[in-house]
Amino acid sequence: MNRQPLGGFNRYIQEGIDSKEAGGILLGHVRGEHLETIEATEPLFWHKRFRFLFERLPYLHHRLAMKRWKESNGLVRYIGEWHTHPQNFPTPSSIDPTEC
Ligand SMILES: [Zn+2]
Repeated sequence: MNRQPLGGFNRYIQEGIDSKEAGGILLGHVRGEHLETIEATEPLFWHKRFRFLFERLPYLHHRLAMKRWKESNGLVRYIGEWHTHPQNFPTPSSIDPTEC
């Protein structure tokens, strides 16, 4: 798990021809209309990772999100998902959310 969210994404850049998609969930604070990400989970051994597909198994991430939520008395919560794409200029796939 990465407590410095933006710094942790670099290791998952899909530069190699056979590099695989990666993803996880984002945890943080809701501040009015703004979201502050304070933690990004990373792919786990059990996740299905392919060049053009990342499938996250929900259970372990859900458990962590609930743990952080309880530890913080509800201040830290699930705020979204992240995953990589293998293109320099990614276009959302049909299963990617496209609206905020
Ligand atoms: Zn996608």
